[in-house]
Amino acid sequence: MSRRRGRICQKVLPNRAHAGILSINHFSRRKGERVSFASYGLAYDLPSHALSVLSALEGAGYEAWAVGGWVRDALAGAPAHDVDVTTSAPWQESERVLKAAGFAVHETGTAHGTVTAVVGGEPIEVTTYRVEGTYSDHRHPDEVRFVTDVREDLARRDFTINAMAYHPERGLLDPFGGKEDLARHVIRAVGEPAARFEEDALRVLRAVRFAARMGFTVEERTHEALIAAAPSLANIAQERIGQELDGIIASGRMAWALLAETEVLCAAVPEITAMVGFDQHSPFHAYTVLEHTARVCRAVEEFTAGVPAHALRWAALLHDIAKPVTFTLDDKGRGHFYGHPREGAKMAETIMRRLALPKELISQTVVLVRLHDHYMMPTARSIRRTLVKLEKACPGHAYALIYQLIDLKRSDAVSKVPSAAHYAVEVDALTSAARREIRHRAPVKVSQLAISGRDVLETTGMAPGPDVGMVLDSLLNAVMNGEVDNEREALLREISFPDE
Ligand code: ATP
Ligand code: MG
Repeated sequence: MSRRRGRICQKVLPNRAHAGILSINHFSRRKGERVSFASYGLAYDLPSHALSVLSALEGAGYEAWAVGGWVRDALAGAPAHDVDVTTSAPWQESERVLKAAGFAVHETGTAHGTVTAVVGGEPIEVTTYRVEGTYSDHRHPDEVRFVTDVREDLARRDFTINAMAYHPERGLLDPFGGKEDLARHVIRAVGEPAARFEEDALRVLRAVRFAARMGFTVEERTHEALIAAAPSLANIAQERIGQELDGIIASGRMAWALLAETEVLCAAVPEITAMVGFDQHSPFHAYTVLEHTARVCRAVEEFTAGVPAHALRWAALLHDIAKPVTFTLDDKGRGHFYGHPREGAKMAETIMRRLALPKELISQTVVLVRLHDHYMMPTARSIRRTLVKLEKACPGHAYALIYQLIDLKRSDAVSKVPSAAHYAVEVDALTSAARREIRHRAPVKVSQLAISGRDVLETTGMAPGPDVGMVLDSLLNAVMNGEVDNEREALLREISFPDE
């Protein structure tokens, strides 16, 4: 019995075994003595390539720590993150020492003291301890200064959870209470929040991104400062705003961000501002445009078990972006938004291009926004017509996009008024119809027809030219409308001249 308890304790509670060790000052332990990573609350150990980098630098007489995202995620039990290393070695020394240890080293950011070593195929960034000078443009420090104390380096970092360092022998260095903030689920600025956001306005969006990703909230004083600093996002390069917003989108918590951090989202994408508090004056809408949008963002997560396609998440955010600009009131006092999907598609494209997002993501999002109100019926014809529209906009993606479009429609339907939710049931019939068409490989482009341009030339005796394409287009149309099957003989018959 007692043997059994011992085994369980060892297996399940490894931390307890080190409780005694933790109570003594771990910095005083002899060099080379390692305490289990678990005793510091880390969910996993540093990977071997990072240990090699630390030991090469320390073997040469410098100090080196794992820092930032890896420490945070290891403490949070999140999937392992790339390891970044911070060191007292000047970058030229890091380069020399790591090369001498046999690693490839690239000068990836020497102005900021960064080199990247490649160890066992894994890149690892090594940066000299540094602090940043004044910021005159709310983003870039006017100078960086290399320092010798790791604590100074930690103090220039943005949030307490990102300002921790770990070393397998010296343990966790956490001067700002990052571990406690992780446990309390809060994002808190290191130092004076207003000053930190004033230095670099991008931190405003980073705070929201980390909060969204980790399901945390922003600590009160940090939050006040963040709201005050949000307008300074106007000074930040659109591309950086795009990356951070995309991170919020990828967290699956855009609904929370829209409602809890509205000012920040409006500063990042000014077009969102008009959605805030916008009463739709419609019996079909119980919510303002912003609240409705947030609900649609949440619904796409729920209907896809938390793994919606990237474009679907963007489309949920932007599908009604043009409602405020297309709004009209009729003489009964009812609101209408004629043309908002088409106008919204244009706005979505403008916004996403401005944010320098990838082209393919933009074209997929734009077609989803444009078709979100497109009337679909659970018939072969209606599904095929939609597939062809999707294929035209995003070649090669029609089959995947039709499911995204249906999920967007379903999410839209359940986010209006309770009586509109019944449309979600009709949408389920669309899913089955789409599945049927895709199973039968419904042709979505002329190249999927059972005959080719050459067949058209041979059968009709036409000269090569654009007319051949028109014949194929009309055949695709006929197949789409169910007038002819996509079978070789049937299609050839369609284009043959009747026997005289
Ligand atoms: P992610 O998983 O998002 O990459 P990360 O923590 O690695 O998380 P990075 O943006 O890669 O974040 O930055 C690495 C570290 O550098 C952060 O953990 C933080 O300590 C620091 N840092 C990055 N950007 C800033 C900033 N704008 N202001 C202050 N510190 C920053
Ligand atoms: Mg990173």
